[in-house]
Amino acid sequence: MTDFSKYLTQKIFKAVSAAASDLGVEAYVIGGYVRDLILQRSSSDIDFVTLGDGIALARKVAGKIKPGLRVSVFKNFGTAQFTYKGVSYEFVGARKESYTRNSRKPAVEEGTLEDDQNRRDFTINALAINLNTGNFGELIDPFNGLDDLENKIIKTPLDPEVTFDDDPLRMMRAIRFATQLNFLIEENTFKAIARFKERISIVSKERIVEEINKILLSPKPSVGFKLMDKTGLLELIMPELSRLKGVEVVNGTGHKDNFYHTLAVLDQLAQKSDDLWLRWAALLHDIAKPQTKKFIEGQGWTFHGHNFIGSKMVPKMFKRLKLPLNEKMKFVQKMVNLHMRPIVLSEDEVTDSAVRRMLFEAGDDIDLLMTLCEADITSKNEKKVVTYLNNFKLVREKLKDIEERDAIRNFQPPVSGELIMETFGIPPCKEVGVIKNAIKEAILEGEIHNNFDEACQLMLKVGAGLGLEKKKS
Ligand code: ATP
Repeated sequence: MTDFSKYLTQKIFKAVSAAASDLGVEAYVIGGYVRDLILQRSSSDIDFVTLGDGIALARKVAGKIKPGLRVSVFKNFGTAQFTYKGVSYEFVGARKESYTRNSRKPAVEEGTLEDDQNRRDFTINALAINLNTGNFGELIDPFNGLDDLENKIIKTPLDPEVTFDDDPLRMMRAIRFATQLNFLIEENTFKAIARFKERISIVSKERIVEEINKILLSPKPSVGFKLMDKTGLLELIMPELSRLKGVEVVNGTGHKDNFYHTLAVLDQLAQKSDDLWLRWAALLHDIAKPQTKKFIEGQGWTFHGHNFIGSKMVPKMFKRLKLPLNEKMKFVQKMVNLHMRPIVLSEDEVTDSAVRRMLFEAGDDIDLLMTLCEADITSKNEKKVVTYLNNFKLVREKLKDIEERDAIRNFQPPVSGELIMETFGIPPCKEVGVIKNAIKEAILEGEIHNNFDEACQLMLKVGAGLGLEKKKS
């Protein structure tokens, strides 16, 4: 018997044991918590299963932990949950599941612990630890999940084809766990995903995206996207990404494979930033390269406008995937649109005005844009990489310098349209816009500083040039 009692030191486990004994039922801790306990990963969700009434057990345990603790009851599902000190505890009666073709929601009936372990998705997620007096701490591992944890294997407890056919979300979960934990998907499990990939169509986009987000937030997200590609799921879920694959050669000149380049950028970015939306931007930064690809004699491969066209594709993809259509999406669009700017800028001479213009467009997102661009350097040529990174350093220094002199980051025109109208005694008209724009351009070009006095002087000068006269006060 594998004894885990020494790991179950938290007060909750003794409380569940005592409550189960009071009620005369059996109770086990099960699933992801046990997996993470063995892997020494932290987890904020703990699931308990009982051969009895999950709701009654939850109430009893809550009373022992802290009298008056609020228990949320989901009668329809026979589950109950409470949160204590930031950890969520969920209780459910052991169940048996049976599936129908068109839904991933099973019919549920009362079952044994074995039934409950059989319905779990992977061997490593089917581990249970006995909490009953006498057997406290005993590991119940009918599918050798412990070995699979040691050997870093994702494998279904039952026939993988049945497992994935029943609930196709499990295909995405397999890939997500393989990515998060750096595990391998066992061969038959992998083949079954490839075979049943079309079943993903019955899974809601929200659920799929939840898994994609977890893949994106993993230490090495490329693992998940390569698995999605190899199983054929990527083509079904994000065909735009599949289209990035491949290298075309004309007159002996090939371009880089944009799928593998994108994944390299994503992995490099994952080393630098935990921001989910910046990781989305990395995933989509070159999404329009296939549409914009052209071979030009004497120039080689070009992808003119891929950043702009890519930024236009973002809302369509976000809508289809049921991702938020709010400022998060706008941020991703902005990053995709601007991702070439620092590179182009550092290829030429790094002028103040070019840096000021970039800062004007990126605003508060400038640091994230620079981080994305640094991750975008995947050249194998060491010399090139060093040159680019040095140029980026120069851009960052200039950015700091310009920020100190001119407040461009959240640019507000120092002279308002109202003041222009009042100064010249004119109604809203084209001239107001012309003057405002001339002031903005002069600031961005560094011809005047971003302050009221210099802007006012320029307003009078430009106004005079337009034939406007200052109103007598
Ligand atoms: P994470 O918290 O990282 O998502 P987890 O394994 O704890 O990982 P949950 O979604 O909380 O994931 O699920 C808890 C447990 O429920 C799993 O460990 C697994 O045993 C079971 N489970 C969850 N989803 C499924 C599913 N689609 N099919 C079968 N079993 C599942």
